[in-house]
Amino acid sequence: RRLVYDLGEGTAEMKPLLGGKGAGVAEMIRIGVPVPDGFTVTTEACVATMESGGTWPDGLWEEILAHLDALEQRTGRRLGAAERPLLVSVRSGAVMSMPGMMDTILNLGISDESVVGLAEESGNPRFAWDCYRRFLQMYGEVVEGVPGHAFEDEISALKARRGVELDNELTVEDLQELVDTFRTVALRHTGQGLPTDPREQLRRSVQAVFSSWDTPRANVYRRAHDIPDDLGTAVNVMQMVFGNRGDTSATGVCFTRNPATGTKELYGEFLVDAQGEDVVAGIRTPRALAEMEEVLPDAYRELLDTMARLEQHYGDMQDIEFTVDDGKLYLLQTRTGKRTAAAALKVARDLVAEGVIDRSTALRRIEPAQLDQLLHPGLDPEHGEKPLTRGLNASPGAGVGTVVFDADTAAERGDAGESVVLVRWETTPDDIHGVIAAQGVLTTHGGMTSHAAVVARGMGKPCVAGAGELQIDVEARTVTVGDTVLSEGDTITIDGTTGDVYAGALTLVPPRITEDFTAVLAWADDVRRLGVRANADTGADAAKARELGAEGIGLCRTEHMFMDAERLPVVQSMILAETTEERAAALERLLPMQQADFEEILTAMSGLPVTIRLIDPPLHEFLPDLVEQSVHVQRLEEAGTTGPELDDARELLAHVKRLSEMNPMLGTRGVRLALLYPEIARMQVRAIARAARAVRERGQDPHVEIMVPLVGFDEELRRMREVVEETWAEEVPGDDVPHSVGTMIELPRAALVAGAIAAHADFFSFGTNDLTQTTVGISRDDAEGSFLGAYVEAGILPGNPFASIDVDGVGELVRTGVRKGRDTVPDLKTGVCGEHGGDPASIALFDEIGLDYVSCSPYRVPIARLAAAQVSL
Ligand code: PEP
Ligand code: MG
Repeated sequence: RRLVYDLGEGTAEMKPLLGGKGAGVAEMIRIGVPVPDGFTVTTEACVATMESGGTWPDGLWEEILAHLDALEQRTGRRLGAAERPLLVSVRSGAVMSMPGMMDTILNLGISDESVVGLAEESGNPRFAWDCYRRFLQMYGEVVEGVPGHAFEDEISALKARRGVELDNELTVEDLQELVDTFRTVALRHTGQGLPTDPREQLRRSVQAVFSSWDTPRANVYRRAHDIPDDLGTAVNVMQMVFGNRGDTSATGVCFTRNPATGTKELYGEFLVDAQGEDVVAGIRTPRALAEMEEVLPDAYRELLDTMARLEQHYGDMQDIEFTVDDGKLYLLQTRTGKRTAAAALKVARDLVAEGVIDRSTALRRIEPAQLDQLLHPGLDPEHGEKPLTRGLNASPGAGVGTVVFDADTAAERGDAGESVVLVRWETTPDDIHGVIAAQGVLTTHGGMTSHAAVVARGMGKPCVAGAGELQIDVEARTVTVGDTVLSEGDTITIDGTTGDVYAGALTLVPPRITEDFTAVLAWADDVRRLGVRANADTGADAAKARELGAEGIGLCRTEHMFMDAERLPVVQSMILAETTEERAAALERLLPMQQADFEEILTAMSGLPVTIRLIDPPLHEFLPDLVEQSVHVQRLEEAGTTGPELDDARELLAHVKRLSEMNPMLGTRGVRLALLYPEIARMQVRAIARAARAVRERGQDPHVEIMVPLVGFDEELRRMREVVEETWAEEVPGDDVPHSVGTMIELPRAALVAGAIAAHADFFSFGTNDLTQTTVGISRDDAEGSFLGAYVEAGILPGNPFASIDVDGVGELVRTGVRKGRDTVPDLKTGVCGEHGGDPASIALFDEIGLDYVSCSPYRVPIARLAAAQVSL
């Protein structure tokens, strides 16, 4: 097994082995784009190293040395040599890009000997010494663990002494002094100084890049983006090209389209006389790419040509890193550009229109979960508020929250449920956990391609970058602009669409559905087999769901209508009724209320099926909690209260005690409740039937599906269906309103005896929430806060089975249920209405099993439409 490949040996298809960067550079060589020479250590070498606890696989070092040798031959240079020295970069390159999360070492090969050679050869001693100080700084920090600020502090101190502002204003002598200082700093922190042999430095650098796969920030990033932990990173060793050689050199980052909006336009930044990190880390604020035309016209034109070629070649928007070394352009990396959902839709649509890709390819490329971003509220374009200040509109959307100044605080407060906006000089990769927890990110430095911007866009979080008027005082924990001083905890609003920043919380309005959204989802509808419905309990939700493309309602949870403040007392008096008459009177009052709700929903969904579920939760859910009521009674007693108040409280307590259960989720709920109190079910059926008739009389077209929850035995459904049909016949004598009766399959037994149950059902709807709970034996209400997280962390479970279906267990029961049900009733309609109905991975399984539809919350409907299309491609 080979562990190292020359860059010239690879192709784009070798990405799993060579990582994104290695494969991207190899592909560029193949199509004749100028890139530096070098070689790639495979992801397999990294994985093998991780698996053995840090020991390299046999022969890896020898292979690296052999490829280094060959590189020296090809370039006619030697690593660390006094004459014609070879300098290399050592860069990570994961299979799925993780911008900025892993380590990079530049200028390796510079030493006391080679710095002299480089100075002579280039005729530019300043440049040579700049490389040297950069190397010590980066190598010291990344490989030997010297805190980065220890170096930065020295640079700042020296600049202050010299009275200059920018790094590139330091002289050769200054840089020589810095090199000495840096060595001392390193010695102080490591106790033994840095190794001086470049080959040893290379060995340690490769090891450091391997290890950077497993840093906390890389792990947090992988969690947030669902990237598996066992992929490992490749390591790319490439000959250095220098953007820091003076005025004829530069380095930059660009995208072939605007990654925030998708618009085809020039988008990028560069810095003259600088190296890569300077741009992305926001050390100096970079210049807009368009300005490069003036300073480096030839390289600029070649860059534009190359960008166009690469986009055409890959058929997708590219994110490119380049360096101009004394007038000559080199590309260091090209990869698929991370983009917002809005940009993803626009780019997909435009590339299809331009004839670059077909619709299937376009649909495959859009991440369904990303669509969620487009459905969040934003600022009202006509709000008329005056901004405090403005920065770059780096990632669109509005973020409202309290100001926090560091990632730990952001994570702490954000995880506790507070909305926070992370305000930083510039974010670093180590801030990732804070970015995840925040509503948005605001930085005072850095540009459109800065780390904060890239990460925010990838997560769909609003980001305003480089708001330079803001003065952050980290000690005082304030941010000042003009006369306004905001302290930690004050609320701000950032608008990543415009770059504006406001004091206080601005009102958000519902999003507008764009043409790109409508068009791309229409393509999805053309190819998907699986139907998509919504779970909705109100007319407003139903209307929203329909607007987002729902083809009906798959679950209306009627009990949610009982929780309303005005209705709860009526529901309680129904539960507490002593006699049948009392209960009937309470139900009589509830009926018109439910009927009104159903009328709204059936109107919103006219012409489409609406599945209405009969009451499901145990009755005590509508009464006070047992402990609370006990305490209440005790307080009254202690206070010496007597009379009706105490009597009523005691009576209520007695009811609560009578109805309370050890395991309410497995108790008197669902069909069990309806069989015990058929009058409740009758009232609901009446309300549904009357609503349907009323709506029909108004010229609408209601399609009612009445659904019975928590059935485990066919006899339950047989009896319940009788109750439903009898009542329906009383209300709709001519049976002229379409209706059907079906059941949820949400107990393992129901799935196993689905054949018998189907004899009484017109349809099945899999309630995978309860089915998961009862199959895997994990409580859906308690799990997340307890062992489940630890299980997932430890790799015992691949993920939360309530979010994404347990394919082997619960999935098998769904499969069995469908098969047995259809054995009895060949055209049995089947769907799923648990949370999994909106989860792309679960949708793939449901499509494969052959369900007719999935049903999910209204805002997940577009996600489900796209995910269902992707499995049909
Ligand atoms: C289910 O159990 O999957 C379901 C949809 O019902 P509920 O979530 O209301 O229990
Ligand atoms: Mg359920």
